[in-house]
Amino acid sequence: MKTLILGAGYAGLAVATKMKPLPDLETLLVEQNAFHTFETRLHEAAAHNTRVTMPLAPLLKGTGVHLEQAQVEGVNLDDKEVTLKDGRVLTYDTLVVGLGSVTNFYRIPGLAENASELKQLSDADEIFNYVNRVFANDYHGNRDIVVGGAGLTGVELVTELAQRAELLSKERGLPPFKIHLVEAGPKILPILDEALRLKAQKTLEEYGINILVGHRLMQATADSVTVQTAEGEQKVIPAGKIIWTGGIQARDVVKGAKLEKGPGGRIAVDAELRAKGYPDVFIIGDMGLALNQEGKPVPTTAQHAGQQGRLTGKNLMRLAKGEQPEAYEPTTLGEFVSLGGLMAVGWMKLPWNQKLAITGGLAHVMKRASEWRWRASID
Ligand SMILES: Cc1cc2nc3c(=O)[nH]c(=O)nc-3n(C[C@H](O)[C@H](O)[C@H](O)COP(=O)(O)OP(=O)(O)OC[C@H]3O[C@@H](n4cnc5c(N)ncnc54)[C@H](O)[C@@H]3O)c2cc1C
Repeated sequence: MKTLILGAGYAGLAVATKMKPLPDLETLLVEQNAFHTFETRLHEAAAHNTRVTMPLAPLLKGTGVHLEQAQVEGVNLDDKEVTLKDGRVLTYDTLVVGLGSVTNFYRIPGLAENASELKQLSDADEIFNYVNRVFANDYHGNRDIVVGGAGLTGVELVTELAQRAELLSKERGLPPFKIHLVEAGPKILPILDEALRLKAQKTLEEYGINILVGHRLMQATADSVTVQTAEGEQKVIPAGKIIWTGGIQARDVVKGAKLEKGPGGRIAVDAELRAKGYPDVFIIGDMGLALNQEGKPVPTTAQHAGQQGRLTGKNLMRLAKGEQPEAYEPTTLGEFVSLGGLMAVGWMKLPWNQKLAITGGLAHVMKRASEWRWRASID
C-alpha cells in the first residue's frame, strides 16, 4: 500500500511522525524544504533572525517514512496522481494533503505587487534585512512600516518589530521607525475576550504603535498605502515597507470533480477528515474545512493542524491493520498572543468549559509551553 503525505507543516509532520514501519506500507513525505518551519514563530525570525526551522530527516527516523524533497505542482484526485514541479508523477493508494495556506490579498489594488508577506522563512528574512538596512547611517528615504491586518500574526509582528526598532535605535543612535497597524474591523485581535484585547491594545500603545482600526486598506503603491474609514474619509500613509497579514486562503493545488470547497477555498472533509467524495484522501490543517462539535469551521491554527495530523497518522496505522478510523473531535486548549519579549496575553481551557485568562510573563511561558509540546510530539 502506497501512502503519500504532502507537506511537512504542523499537519503533515504530525502524520509522518505518528507512522510506524509495516511490511506492506510504503510512505513518502513530499515537502519542498528539507526542514520544518515553526510558522507560529515567524514574527520572531522577522524581527530578530531567531532560528525557527528544524531539519526533517532526523524526525523521520524509526517511522518508515521516506522524505522526498520536491515541490508539488498539482493533485488530481480523479486520476489519483500527484504531479511534481520537476515533471515526475507520483501515484498513491492513500493520500494526505497538508500543504497549508497562502496569503489572500483580496484583490486590493497594488497590494500583492507591493506588500511583503509573513508565511515562510524567506518572508521573515526579507523583513529582517529591511529593518537592518534602514538603520544604516547612509539610508535615505522613508523607514516607516505599515502592517495590514490586526489578527494574531499582525499583532505579534508589530510588537516584535517595535522591540527591534528600540534596540537598534539605541545601538545606532537613530530614531526608531514608526509602525502603523491598519485594520478594517472595529478592533484588534477579534479572537480574544474584551479584557485581554484591551491589555494587548495598551501594550501596543506603549510601544508607540499607531493603531488604525476601522480603516480599510484600499490601495498600495511601492511607497504608500491608502486607507479609508467607515465614513469614507481617505488617508495616504507613506511607508518604506508594507506587510500584509490580513488574510489567508487554502493553497489551491487539489482538483477533483466531486470536491466541495468552502470559505477561503478550504476543502470540505468528513468526520474522519477525508475529502468528501474521496475516501482515500485526507485533507488536514489550513487546507481542510473540518467542522467542530457545533458544526462550525475549525480555526486555521497550528494547534488544530497538529491535532488533525496526529489523528490522521493514527488512522493511517489503523487502516493499514484493517481497523476502522476514528472520528475527529477538535479541542481548543487555549490561545496565546505574544506581545514582544516576555509579554503575552491569552487564556487556557479549564474543566467544564471555563477559561482562565492569563497575562504577562506567565502567558509568555504558556505560549512557549505550547511550542515545547509541539516539539515533544514530533520528536
Ligand atoms: C506569523 C504567524 C504566527 C502564527 N501564530 C500562531 C499561533 O500562535 N498559534 C496557532 O495555533 N497558529 C498560529 N499561526 C497559524 C499556523 O501557523 C497555521 O495555522 C499552521 O501553520 C497550519 O499548518 P499546516 O500544516 O496546515 O500548514 P503549514 O504549517 O503552512 O505547512 C505547509 C507545508 O507544506 C509545504 N508546502 C507548501 N506548498 C508546497 C508545495 N507546492 N510542494 C511541497 N511542499 C509544499 C510548506 O513548505 C510547509 O512545510 C500563525 C501563523 C503565522 C504566519
